[in-house]
Amino acid sequence: MTHDAGPSAGSVLAELRALQAGDLPTHGGRTLAYVYDSGLAEADSLGREALAMFASSNGLDPTAFPSLQRMENDLVALAGSWLDAPPGFAGVVSSGGTESILLAVLAAREEAPDVADPSMVLPSSAHAAFLKAAAYLGVRAVVVDVDPHTLRADPAAVADAVDDSTVLVVASAPSYAHGVLDPVAEVATVAAARGIRCHVDACIGGWVLPHLDDVPPWTFAVPGVTSISVDLHKYAYTPKGVSLLLHRDAALRRGHLFASADWPGYTMLNSTLQSTKSGGPLAAAWAVTRHIGAEGYARLAHAARAATLELADAAGATDGLRVVAAPDSTLLALATDGSCDVFTIADEMLARGWFVQPQMAFGALPPTLHLTLSAATAPSVPEFVSALREAVAAARTAGPVAVDPGLGGMLAGLDPTALDDAAFAGLLAAAGLAGGDGGIALPARMAPVNALLDACPPRLREALLVGVLDRLSRPTGTAAGPAPSET
Ligand SMILES: *Cc1c(COP(=O)(O)O)cnc(C)c1O
Repeated sequence: MTHDAGPSAGSVLAELRALQAGDLPTHGGRTLAYVYDSGLAEADSLGREALAMFASSNGLDPTAFPSLQRMENDLVALAGSWLDAPPGFAGVVSSGGTESILLAVLAAREEAPDVADPSMVLPSSAHAAFLKAAAYLGVRAVVVDVDPHTLRADPAAVADAVDDSTVLVVASAPSYAHGVLDPVAEVATVAAARGIRCHVDACIGGWVLPHLDDVPPWTFAVPGVTSISVDLHKYAYTPKGVSLLLHRDAALRRGHLFASADWPGYTMLNSTLQSTKSGGPLAAAWAVTRHIGAEGYARLAHAARAATLELADAAGATDGLRVVAAPDSTLLALATDGSCDVFTIADEMLARGWFVQPQMAFGALPPTLHLTLSAATAPSVPEFVSALREAVAAARTAGPVAVDPGLGGMLAGLDPTALDDAAFAGLLAAAGLAGGDGGIALPARMAPVNALLDACPPRLREALLVGVLDRLSRPTGTAAGPAPSET
């Protein structure tokens, strides 16, 4: 007897494929943010198989699923060997970089109970996940400028910002926005001198930098570094949902281990924010890292690094473009000379089948394009470069995208703390973004929208984007969302 009254599995899969057709491609090396492609088909299929095998296993209880604890311990050990972890180190597998960072901040806060108003010192290039941690965990973010030329953390500025309330100091290896490595040794020295923890955010670089030559020290080999985050769902080329947080000493982890016996159910015992935790991403990471191995990762790292340098050279030699900072790893930020704008270039690249990620102006820095180079992009760098040259030429012909003066005026008068539904609806209509039933219709070309957002002060941009998210994420078929037949 069959109980499944819905469409057949085959037709549901066809629906999924149709939905996915509207997404950016995850493989092929033409999406230079969000996704990572090793170009190794066998590693990919192994990852998918392991993901499926353990998708229903639950990391909630290591005694019920000992396989998951074993795989977690194996991954932590592997990372420890690459990151020069000393005897006595410990770590956890989390769901992503943001969770690893939240846990590092939480542990620092919990282990400083005498500090009434805890704070952390962040170079302005630190990932926004730390600002999220500040907002969620009540740890004040003290943000200090980076060096205006190198865009690296300024250890003297960090030292000046540290005070009795500081529970954590942060350095990036490398920074997401500009791809440069902070002077980890100097920053960690500042922290160690005051007995403060120092977290190295190697979420994006942690699986690449160990394989590159001439990288300044940034691992646990640096005295004073107390924790490091590394995302496996980035350059370990494993399916999404896995990151590692390593602590120099197991005792430093205590602040994010949680147990509760104060309820009638099982005694809650967690090492991360998640409680029920799929074994899928962990098993996939375990399988893929074993299969690719140290030599494989070294080859992939060198391929992505060579591609980054080749692309940086070509971009720097393109009229209208400049490389914002010499790349220390496999990330690149590009700016224009003012003859055109990065938002139009991004649209022109998308029209040519390449995704590059716009980054808005920040402080004295102009808007930029962010490029994360996967190993799979390496063979097509020449193709990317010719598309980029065409895209820049087209953007120069069009000239910098202008913000509609009427809209600009409307925005200038807005108070981000008082952006109600009516004001937001009026804005959407004026910007030509109003969809049916109060929803949002995103245009094919995003440059005018991005230029408008770029012109907004940060608080207003945040309020506008929260408004957008609020309207995009509504139940299908209700006022603000598209009906299934429209998708
Ligand atoms: C990606 C990234 C993060 C956040 O990781 P998620 O997996 O997106 O949560 C934090 N720091 C750096 C440097 C990153 O590149």
